[in-house]
Amino acid sequence: MNPIHVIGGGLAGSEATWQIAQAGVPVVVHEMRPHRATEAHVSEELAELVCSNSFRSDDAELNAVGLLHAELRRAGSLIMSAGDANQVPAGGALAVDRHGFSAAVTRTLEEHPLVTIVREEIDGLPPADWDSVIIATGPLTSPALSAAVVSITDEDALAFFDAIAPIVHFDSIDMDKAWFQSRYDKVGPGGTGADYINCPMNRDEYEAFVDALIAGEKTEFKEWEKTPYFDGCLPIEVMAERGRETLRHGPMKPMGLTNSHKPDEKAYAVVQLRQDNALGTLYNMVGFQTKLKYGVQTDIFRMIPGLENAQFARLGGLHRNTFLNSPKLLDGFLRLKAEPRLRFAGQITGCEGYVESASVGCMAGRFAAAHRLGREIAPPPVTTAMGALLNHITVGHLEDEEPGKRSFQPMNVNFGLFPPVEFSKKSEDGERLKGPDKAKAKKRALTARAMADFDAWLAGTEKAAAE
Ligand code: FAD
Repeated sequence: MNPIHVIGGGLAGSEATWQIAQAGVPVVVHEMRPHRATEAHVSEELAELVCSNSFRSDDAELNAVGLLHAELRRAGSLIMSAGDANQVPAGGALAVDRHGFSAAVTRTLEEHPLVTIVREEIDGLPPADWDSVIIATGPLTSPALSAAVVSITDEDALAFFDAIAPIVHFDSIDMDKAWFQSRYDKVGPGGTGADYINCPMNRDEYEAFVDALIAGEKTEFKEWEKTPYFDGCLPIEVMAERGRETLRHGPMKPMGLTNSHKPDEKAYAVVQLRQDNALGTLYNMVGFQTKLKYGVQTDIFRMIPGLENAQFARLGGLHRNTFLNSPKLLDGFLRLKAEPRLRFAGQITGCEGYVESASVGCMAGRFAAAHRLGREIAPPPVTTAMGALLNHITVGHLEDEEPGKRSFQPMNVNFGLFPPVEFSKKSEDGERLKGPDKAKAKKRALTARAMADFDAWLAGTEKAAAE
């Protein structure tokens, strides 16, 4: 049987390799370290954790990444078994001894009879006789391979930085203060003329907001991140520093907007939020990419009228990253539509984080192995954490109304990516649930549905394997 080739032995590549080999298919993994280093990796181990040693919350009942842990464990994940075997105390989080973890992944793959590890950089398009390839080269994909990927997609298809504006859960926005309206009621493709959520500010609120942005503590860029890519997407606090009026003439301009709650009062500035997922559960703050520290962001953005109680699905950031415009380029099995022998996995697909990258690796490995073996396989349902992540990557974004401007940005798994769920809003004593209790009941319903649907999906794939 022809082997499947995996390029990149990081979190995603290692998990994909394991899933393929466990399905009985030979696999060759090509990892460029130690011959060629990245700016962040320091060892020659596979699945190196480049920064924190935490896989975040392990709570599968109330936390979306904890749910992803549970799904990975059920799928026989190597990343999770190596993580569990090398756990260090960290409260409710799963943190690992980073050296023990990476060594365990490396050793397990080295010892697998169907796995071959080749230490080499793939510096161009994979040879034509590699008929099934998974590219899992991560946020720091080597420049030669990035150039090759651009050559078969197009200039805009691969981004080298993420410029992430904060994303807010819709149900935490106070719509008694904010209102729906597109600027000048403009109706774009698929729009209604009321596509944005608008949060108004009077002059005092605006001045205080600008002061807070300027004073807020920022994260410094690392030396290797200082490149010219930022010209088109300045951090919001840098715009504030350029002049007190800059934001009012930029992303916070009030023109063409009328506060439906107070039609006679002209807002001095307006913060706009744009729908971020097809479900309408998440909204991003337009133009609010930022290098402010996370805690500072929460405090400052809650100064915005309507966002006082905002719950953030993710906070803003600007990082060196390499990721595809996946919703445009990839099909539901993570294959490049233009060249289906090439599949992508990990952070390069537009997920974010160790566990998310491993999950996309897990799915890519399973899809590639099933297709090689001629077996039926369906993507995991969108109600599961893996399915919700896959949906975000491959279909779940909305086109920007400005033609040609990409809106897809990487994201961690979060409950905003899941379809709504029915749940009881009453306690066992018949009391109406409110606030955090109601939020917990909703999360429990989402995770219970996810686990049931994931088990059914796995059982289906196992049945296909047995036939
Ligand atoms: P990686 O784990 O980076 O693996 C990619 C592999 O491909 C690497 O081993 C690389 O050497 C190899 N490679 C690259 N190009 C080639 C080539 N042409 N040929 C052969 N091999 C190649 N996530 C978190 O959850 N927590 C954090 O604290 C965190 N901190 C981060 C800090 C930094 C500086 C960066 C850049 C990212 C951080 N991330 C963090 C995100 C993290 O990188 C990803 O979540 C995760 O490692 C991505 O997994 P991956 O498998 O896609 O890529």
